[in-house]
Amino acid sequence: MYIRFMHDGQEKQGFLTQGIIRILDGDMLQGGKISNETLDFDEVSLLAPCCPSKVVCIGLNYKDHAKEMNMDMPKEPLLFMKPSTSVIGDKNPIVAPPQSQHLEYEAELAIVISQPAKNISVEDAENYIFGYSCANDFTARDLQLADKQWTRGKSFDTFCPVGPGIVNTLKCEDAVIELAVNGEVRQRSNLNQLIFNVHEIVSYVSSQMTLLPGDIILTGTPHGVGPVEPGDVMAVSIDGIGTLTNQLTAS
Ligand code: MN
Repeated sequence: MYIRFMHDGQEKQGFLTQGIIRILDGDMLQGGKISNETLDFDEVSLLAPCCPSKVVCIGLNYKDHAKEMNMDMPKEPLLFMKPSTSVIGDKNPIVAPPQSQHLEYEAELAIVISQPAKNISVEDAENYIFGYSCANDFTARDLQLADKQWTRGKSFDTFCPVGPGIVNTLKCEDAVIELAVNGEVRQRSNLNQLIFNVHEIVSYVSSQMTLLPGDIILTGTPHGVGPVEPGDVMAVSIDGIGTLTNQLTAS
């Protein structure tokens, strides 16, 4: 999988297989080539796998979660956004903002865009997807519900963990998505439960706005969302990608 990381005080990109990183010459999203230079995975610290200009999110995209939130099935995708400043990588702490008394996790599949995309058809959408990652659409639920729209509740710094890296291909028609808190499974579903699939989502979002290389789309969360407290460790796992782990810390 593709990763971004810090090594020797420098930001680098690489391709990770079986604990060995082969360093990229150039940027993964601009045709960077895998070199022969290697590093051990335990010598580096991961960064978010890409630097999006924006993070577009789909609300209510699993049948089971729409039911849990007592909302009707959407007829078309419901969009909202998180700012680029909310994005962090694997093992980085999520910082609890003092404004909220009720924080919740949301395990999600992240789509990473490969090239500028505007008005892309469902049939063509695959050509605009660089790959997939795990994400946690972290949410101040009390502020989200109090405000009637979602910007404040979704946008605090560190509220968009993404990682550990990006895989180019994924069996989206059959992959388990799971979230555990302190090792205990709280969300478990399958990407085959998505109301709108990844190609429909890329097409729909691109009909509203231009997507740029590195932009991220979060595809919605399954049932089982719930509160966490400072000290809790959340782990989002998707078959074929890996696990994204972040601890909530007090501000
Ligand atoms: Mn969400």
